[in-house]
Amino acid sequence: MKYYSTRDKSVSLSAAEAVKMGLSRDGGLLTPEQIPQIDRSFLESLISMDYAQRAAKVMALYLTDYTEEELLTFGHNAYGPEKFDDPAAAPVRKVEDGTYCLELWHGPTSAFKDMALQMLPQLLSAALRKTGEKRTACILVATSGDTGKGALEGFKDVKGTRILVFYPKDGVSAVQELQMVTQEGDNVGVASVVGNFDDAQTGVKEIFAACKDKDLHGAMLSSANSINIGRLAPQVVYYFRAYGDLVKSGRIRLGDVVDYTVPTGNFGDILAGYFARQMGLPVGRLICASNANDVLTEFLTTGRYDKRRPFYKTTSPSMDILVSSNLERLLYLVSQDASCVERLMRELNTQGWYQVSGWMLERLRAVFGCGCCDDAGAAEVIGRVWREHKYLCDPHTAVAWAVAEKHTREGVPMVVLSTASPYKFPAAVLHALGEASGDDEFAMMEQLHALTGMDIPKNLRGLEGRPVLHTDVIDKDAMLDYVLSDVLK
Ligand SMILES: *Cc1c(COP(=O)(O)O)cnc(C)c1O
Repeated sequence: MKYYSTRDKSVSLSAAEAVKMGLSRDGGLLTPEQIPQIDRSFLESLISMDYAQRAAKVMALYLTDYTEEELLTFGHNAYGPEKFDDPAAAPVRKVEDGTYCLELWHGPTSAFKDMALQMLPQLLSAALRKTGEKRTACILVATSGDTGKGALEGFKDVKGTRILVFYPKDGVSAVQELQMVTQEGDNVGVASVVGNFDDAQTGVKEIFAACKDKDLHGAMLSSANSINIGRLAPQVVYYFRAYGDLVKSGRIRLGDVVDYTVPTGNFGDILAGYFARQMGLPVGRLICASNANDVLTEFLTTGRYDKRRPFYKTTSPSMDILVSSNLERLLYLVSQDASCVERLMRELNTQGWYQVSGWMLERLRAVFGCGCCDDAGAAEVIGRVWREHKYLCDPHTAVAWAVAEKHTREGVPMVVLSTASPYKFPAAVLHALGEASGDDEFAMMEQLHALTGMDIPKNLRGLEGRPVLHTDVIDKDAMLDYVLSDVLK
């Protein structure tokens, strides 16, 4: 399988090279030349497998420089009991008739990023070996909250790598921040950026561009953001997982169509669902759920992507995004036209918006539904779903739940992707349950536990009293210098 840049069809890389580079040198996203196809017997064979086996089987179709045995070893390392607190790794819970939550937050940082970020460092490490790379891979990460910690956990002390994480100062939850600034490991760095997530993400993209032809003294830059194909491939797996489990439990028959609703920020999670669908998994519609930052709702309704709008800080900070990077891959897959994508991305950069053609919008809308839900709506859902079903969801999942309710089709099961533990956002969740809260995050976790009886994830409980190891605060224009002084030192 070769990987092309979404902006330049003449770029052609192996899977290992694509994982190593993260982003194409022209700024485009590396995308498989074609989407691998599966048949009924492939799907049938997955049903009896555990998570690691399914991961190896599905990922092997994309990452053809890796053997299935290699991927299986990575899978056991990534999703085993030392890392995940549920033997299923990503369990499917029935919440009400026909509606299920696919819980993607049982990993070491209690958010869905672990599903991919426990895998990516192993893929990257192997890619450095496979491509004979001698330089240190310096991983740059811009995070809206969850990617940063997920990447730090995945990459800490991984040989041949250094990782630098940038998060928006005042733009992540208190627990998220604490998770990052207490990170241990000899190869890790964390800084907050004065700005929002898009500033941090743009900063990282600009660093890649500025360093393209620079001698970095034995270092090379790579990315752990969801633009890396090594993150997308592991995310395809859990769409199969959910489907297989619904078949296994007798809730659907093999071949029945299932819809999925995905709380969306950078469009990585839902794009993996699109890959699964195009591979041949019986996915009906993919519903893209946004919070008050509803740029994708507008886009999937009108075909116009306009980032010139107010940026809202919400109770679902991991979705507070105006520029959804992975959308570029979808535009490429639908148009198969790199020069068209290059033009649209240039327009987004220079004028702040672009408009896709009518036929492209039609093809998008044939698969994707969309909707948005503000903080009050998400809080209403958290309270109601708890009262009616004794199921506790975090604000991101609640946004998806609210949007899913508007898109449920008669006779078609709906799987809502649940992307974070409610304990990661205890203040918002307590508030939604009508409880007063103080300002101590750990007291709030205990309060939530007393109220619901749900276990507090070990990793979050363990944060209390940990020393703060990272205190750098930098201006968004200083990110390049920060990275250079780090890698060149
Ligand atoms: C990252 C994240 C999302 C958004 O996922 P994308 O792949 O960026 O669309 C949603 N919920 C949570 C909790 C997240 O951490």
